[in-house]
Amino acid sequence: MTRTVSIFGSTGSIGQNTIDLIRRDREAYDVEVLTGGRNIERLAADARDLGARLAVTCHDDLLDDLKAALSGTGVEAAAGEAALVEAADRPVDWTMSAIVGAAGLVPGLRALAHGKTLALANKESLVTAGALLMRTAEAHGARILPVDSEHSAVFQALVGEDIEAVERIVITASGGAFRDWPLEKLATATLEQASSHPNWDMGQRITIDSASMFNKALELIETKEFFGVSPDRIETLVHPESLVHALVGFRDGAFMAHVGAPDMRHAIGYALHWPERRELPVERLDLAAIGQLTFRAPDLARYPALRLARIVMEQGGLWGAAFNAAKERALDGFIAGEIGFLGMAEVVEEVLDGLSSDTGAMNGEVTLDRVHAADHLARIRAAEAITRKQAR
Ligand code: NAD
Ligand code: MG
Repeated sequence: MTRTVSIFGSTGSIGQNTIDLIRRDREAYDVEVLTGGRNIERLAADARDLGARLAVTCHDDLLDDLKAALSGTGVEAAAGEAALVEAADRPVDWTMSAIVGAAGLVPGLRALAHGKTLALANKESLVTAGALLMRTAEAHGARILPVDSEHSAVFQALVGEDIEAVERIVITASGGAFRDWPLEKLATATLEQASSHPNWDMGQRITIDSASMFNKALELIETKEFFGVSPDRIETLVHPESLVHALVGFRDGAFMAHVGAPDMRHAIGYALHWPERRELPVERLDLAAIGQLTFRAPDLARYPALRLARIVMEQGGLWGAAFNAAKERALDGFIAGEIGFLGMAEVVEEVLDGLSSDTGAMNGEVTLDRVHAADHLARIRAAEAITRKQAR
């Protein structure tokens, strides 16, 4: 039986890995929607090749280009934010949420309304609006399957287990591009240096977030929101080999670890074939050749983002939305050369400090309007903090 699927963010790193798996078993899938951004050529080529019904770019100004690239193919073309949301309303069995950033939230929420399966790579959805996302899934009887490798690992370690028996969840971190740099050198890290990851091949934004550990900070919050575990039970461990993706510690003292090659097709494939385990085209580990796996405690002086994540997890409410938005704005600032590498955490910390007196905006129920308001406010505050830094 064929399954209908849509891929949001199909032109990105996760999207392309998803397409790779689908292409290997072409007959099993009926592709409804693919979406992308500026890479019209990629989007059109994949839509044509997979026989998608609709291709959407999030950029209004690229509609004519997309139409031209798809002319004569029978694939419908659309552009802009509203078109993206409408595309998510098309009912399918399985949706991949692989847009990067807060922009992934609304399409994901709309896809949940089909009451089917949302494979969630877009961690920002859980960070900014975890309560809303989980509530929406429940209201529609939809299932969310985590695609972040660590969360897929935890999810797999929990199969057949009772969440009540979980004592701790350990999310591993590679330590990113600068894990072995002397601390005093971090301030000079360039965009190019921050954009290359020692173990994983990912999109640029998440690669920089790995170097700063903002990615891990988001993942800690994601863990709390998705598995409903209290913050004091969620830990991070630096594991430079990136082979153990997460560990779940149970009340009898046992750890269940997920071990595998650093290849996102593991987590994507697990979510695609769930509840079955099917063959995947990933490397089989030769542990004898690897010899040893190493672990160390994260250095909070090196990774201030981890400290900030603790504050956000403890506060809950709209703090995740503000944290993510401030981080996104700070990351834009680093990419644009407005601030240095360490400036990103300083900006986010300033924003959180400033908002701590704003309890009205930050506490209470997580609704879409309030998430957007908190996101908007945090971006303004982050931009102000960047301007202050530049003036210094
Ligand atoms: P990427 O930058 O490679 O691709 C992002 C995709 O989103 C592209 O298709 C792009 O066109 C689209 N996009 C960007 N901005 C958009 C906007 N404003 N509106 C609509 N579409 C937009 O990113 P990625 O590395 O594939 O990451 C995607 C998501 O998966 C992120 O949330 C990331 O944190 C998460 N994730 C990625 C990896 C990985 O290995 N790459 C691992 C775990 C989790
Ligand atoms: Mg991850």
